[in-house]
Amino acid sequence: MIKCEGGCRFGIMGGSFDPIHYGHLMLAEQIRTQFHLDKVFFIPVGNAPHKKSGNMTNKYMRYEMTVLATMTNPGFAVSKIEIDSDSMSYTINTVKKLKDQIGKEDQLYFITGADAIIELETWSEFKELLGLCKFIAATRPGIDKSKLTSKIDELKSNYGADISVTTVPALAISSTDIRNRVECEQSIRYLLPESVEHYIYKKNLYQK
Ligand code: ATP
Ligand code: MG
Repeated sequence: MIKCEGGCRFGIMGGSFDPIHYGHLMLAEQIRTQFHLDKVFFIPVGNAPHKKSGNMTNKYMRYEMTVLATMTNPGFAVSKIEIDSDSMSYTINTVKKLKDQIGKEDQLYFITGADAIIELETWSEFKELLGLCKFIAATRPGIDKSKLTSKIDELKSNYGADISVTTVPALAISSTDIRNRVECEQSIRYLLPESVEHYIYKKNLYQK
C-alpha cells in the first residue's frame, strides 16, 4: 500500500466489470482528478448478492479484463479482495478489509452512480458503512438532482453520512449492451479498451 504525506485519499470503484468499459474508466478518472485521489482501486465483485452470479463471467476473467483496462493509468489499481473470497461480496465487508490494509490517516472514498445512493439504506449494515468511508455520487449533465440532494440531506442528518455529488459526462455505455452486441456480432470497438476487446474474442466471451 502506498504512503502519502498527511494520509492518502483512496477511491473505491466496485462493479461486476463484465466487461469493464469506457463508462467505468471515465467515471473513475473524472473522480480521481476532481477529488485529488492518490489512487482508485477497481474492485471486481466476487459473488454479487444482487446479481445471479451463475450468469456472470468467471471472476478470474473479469479480474483479468479489469487489469488490462487499467494498467496504463498509474492512478488506477485493481484489488482482488472480493475475487479471492468465496463468501458473498457485501460492501461493508470489503470496506472493513480495506480499512485494515490502509493507514490510520488514509481516507476511503466510495465511488458510485447517484441511483445507488437513493437505495443505500437497503445495503447490508449501511449505517456502519457510512461511518467507515465517504461517498462520491456521480450524476450526468441535465439530470434533476433534487431527489438525490434531499436523500443525501436525510442520510447526513440521520447517520452523519459524508456524500459529495459530482457531474461527469454521459456515456451511454453499459456492460449489458456490450454483451448483447457481441452476441449479435455487432462491433464493440471504441466502447472499451482494445486490450479488453481482444481478450473477449480470444476467450470467446458473450457469444451465442
Ligand atoms: P451491467 O450492464 O452488467 O449492469 P454496468 O455497465 O452497469 O454493467 P456495473 O458493474 O453495474 O456496470 O457498474 C459499476 C459502476 O460503474 C456503478 O457505480 C455504475 O454506476 C458505474 N457505471 C456503469 N456504467 C457507467 C457509465 N456508462 N458511465 C458512468 N458510470 C457508469
Ligand atoms: Mg449496472
